Amino acid sequence: YAAKAAHDRPRRYTPDLDETSDEQARIGAELRTALDAGQFRVVYQPIVSLPAGETVAVEALVRWDHPERGMIPPDRFIPAAERNGLIVELGEWIMRTACTQAVLWRAQHGAAAPMRMSVNVSARQLAEPGFAAMVAAVLRETGLPANGLAVEVTETAVFGGGQAVQSLQDVHDLGVAIALDDFGTGHSSLGLLQTVPVDVIKVDKSFVDTITMAGRHAVIATALIQVSAGLGLTAVAEGVETAEQAAELHRLGYELAQGYHFGRPAAEPSFTIPVTGAV
Ligand code: C2E
Ligand code: MG
Ligand code: MG
Ligand code: MG
Repeated sequence: YAAKAAHDRPRRYTPDLDETSDEQARIGAELRTALDAGQFRVVYQPIVSLPAGETVAVEALVRWDHPERGMIPPDRFIPAAERNGLIVELGEWIMRTACTQAVLWRAQHGAAAPMRMSVNVSARQLAEPGFAAMVAAVLRETGLPANGLAVEVTETAVFGGGQAVQSLQDVHDLGVAIALDDFGTGHSSLGLLQTVPVDVIKVDKSFVDTITMAGRHAVIATALIQVSAGLGLTAVAEGVETAEQAAELHRLGYELAQGYHFGRPAAEPSFTIPVTGAV
């Protein structure tokens, strides 16, 4: 019902706070050329087990190497790609690149390779009727088993209209895991758990940041691990930057975490993170 209601509503224009519309228009116009010229690349950040520090999954994160302006992070061009629709083609390229890499690592590293590749998907991609078919085709072409893939979606994308909810059901039926990104920051995060077939919640960095702050409490991080466990879901703590945070998360019952403390996004991330002092 949510998808239909959102679909019937007129689209609202939401300006980006960190970019003028001129810059966004220029970026939008350049994206096509950039894709054809091979200026995008994908980096991978480890998602590790606590306390062992074993890389159980990686998240694929896109980068744009602009010939004049250097590396442009995704927050600066994904919104423009969403608006001009190129995200559909770029997103397919990212999906194929990430799945190809996952298969390569399996061949090179065997059991030491990360079990799952997690790929971010945006609202416009999910709204398209062809999304699940695209994912199925990429899995078939690359030979990655469906259970080796997760798609990460935000609440905005799920409620973004079109075929969004159906797309998620269809990819889930293929055997692909669904992860809710930046969990807890939306208007109805808990409601989402009843709307889509969720496997993983990625607890937003803002709730990780507060757990070790003096005078603050880990109330939300604690509540979310309880919800996750109660529903039989997997929880991943995002944006872990310190050993203290890692230790506290482990104490609260978190089994998976991601963040600069364990590893930054890289072309070839480490599959075993030395976690001395992490717990
Ligand atoms: P996200 O999916 O929530 O990804 C996590 C972001 O947090 C990444 O930023 C990552 O580099 C950063 N991060 C990881 N650990 C830490 C930490 O310990 N501290 C801090 N301060 N940051 C950390 P990135 O790569 O710049 O991506 C930003 C957002 O852009 C992503 O947020 C996601 O929403 C979007 N994005 C990235 N790649 C893609 C993609 O391939 N497709 C789509 N549609 N969106 C993407
Ligand atoms: Mg993500
Ligand atoms: Mg996130
Ligand atoms: Mg985010």
